[in-house]
Amino acid sequence: MTKRISVRNPRTGLADYTIAAADTEETALTEQRLRAHQTEWAALPVERRIAVLKRFKEAIIRRREEIVARLEADTGRRWASEMEVDSAVGSIDRACLFAEETFAPAAPVPTPDPQVQASADLVAYPLVAVISPWNFPFQLALIDAVPALLAGSAVLLKPSEMTPRFIPVLRACVQETPGLADVFAVVEGDGSTGAAMIEVVDAVCFTGSVRTGRVIAAAAAARFIPAFLELGGKDPAIVTASADLDVATSALLWGSTINSGHSCMSIERVYVDRRVADEFTATLVAKAERVRLAHPGLGDGEIGPIIVAAQAQTIREHLDDAVAKGARVRTGGTIEDLGGGVYLRPTVLTDVDHTMRVMREETFGPVIPVMTYDGADEAVALANDTDFGLSAAVFAGTADEALSIAHRLDAGAVSVNDACLTGMVPSVEKNSFKLSGLGASRMGPPSVRRFLRRRALLVRTATGPRPWYYDGASGPAEER
Ligand code: NAD
Repeated sequence: MTKRISVRNPRTGLADYTIAAADTEETALTEQRLRAHQTEWAALPVERRIAVLKRFKEAIIRRREEIVARLEADTGRRWASEMEVDSAVGSIDRACLFAEETFAPAAPVPTPDPQVQASADLVAYPLVAVISPWNFPFQLALIDAVPALLAGSAVLLKPSEMTPRFIPVLRACVQETPGLADVFAVVEGDGSTGAAMIEVVDAVCFTGSVRTGRVIAAAAAARFIPAFLELGGKDPAIVTASADLDVATSALLWGSTINSGHSCMSIERVYVDRRVADEFTATLVAKAERVRLAHPGLGDGEIGPIIVAAQAQTIREHLDDAVAKGARVRTGGTIEDLGGGVYLRPTVLTDVDHTMRVMREETFGPVIPVMTYDGADEAVALANDTDFGLSAAVFAGTADEALSIAHRLDAGAVSVNDACLTGMVPSVEKNSFKLSGLGASRMGPPSVRRFLRRRALLVRTATGPRPWYYDGASGPAEER
């Protein structure tokens, strides 16, 4: 019997939507259908695949309001819902450019033997699974799917069961795009559907928690298929004494609380030079207190509800642990139940240290712990004292001073004098360091290239025997 999963509305707390999880049988049937069409899809010139994806983009634009409304219902926030649809649309254009670049005629490959010509076929992984999380449900569903399709792969996508209301509209966009439904399927389901998908695909792209990432990496390793993992973070920001504190506080308030802090590249730890720490904290707290909750109206403020109930529990535990160990709550700090939704105002903590969970584990909420340091070496040591390595930020009076610190950070991207720039400038190649991920960059040209294997074609152009053959008829006599 089909498993039905109920979905909670984060503004009311009510389970008011259900999905039907694809089981192993449905997954296998979808797999077979996609594989049957993928060879033809991969054989198309890239321009034809680009044309299909551009039409898909038009379908999304036509249905933008519908998608945004469903994302609002799933996440309880407005601006981020609009932003993620627009951002996904922009990412399609960008991926099309990367695809053109990837399939441009390649220069001949020099070989050590002038009588051998070398070239390479680009061979797409036939079927790619994309498994995505709940925090930016639409954008993260498409971020890997579109480049994989452009590479010539077929894609089996499963968005998070926590935020699935956009799936029927996304499916409609796929259906309205001639040629796409044969190679792009979107299924509903939870972890059991995701696990079944990994058993039948040739590569997997996963965005989500480290915990699930470990399970997926092990399942992929058992099948010798690549797993591209984009996982959690605990991004640090360093603010030096020379930094523009007005800019730093505004950027960090935004970068820590956007989407209620439910962002992998959210700033989750701030290290401030002791000499400017009081001024920094006072300014940050004053700005944080001006931020409003998006309640009772969706458009009433900047901070929406905590999307997933279990996340509220994690945030509460991190706050309780910090306070028990001596942290001071400078503003916020209380999880509020408003009309069935749970909310947390921007929360600034001081007197924190690395014994606290809020400084070591992903909090994924609008919490800004601020710790002081003395000297750049200590700032770098504190920032690098983490299992994660997704991204970071440095604020300083000059870009050179900031970069001298940025070069020493164990993170896959560093924003200088701003926060979370990878979200704004996703065209630059980056890797996730440490527990934050594995595999080639999902940004920049590798976003398409990573779905293509190379088949080397080596052509002997001269005829006649080779000196190393040992068939009794060729090669130097002394070697026979
Ligand atoms: P999650 O790991 O709980 O779930 C993510 C997806 O995995 C869901 O679709 C879920 O159904 C599926 N899943 C669960 N168990 C599975 C299994 N055994 N096999 C296959 N699929 C399975 O993550 P989440 O709570 O939805 O997302 C939040 C996490 O995602 C945070 O840690 C956040 O930092 C991370 N994230 C990372 C990035 C990035 O780019 N690095 C971006 C966004 C979110």
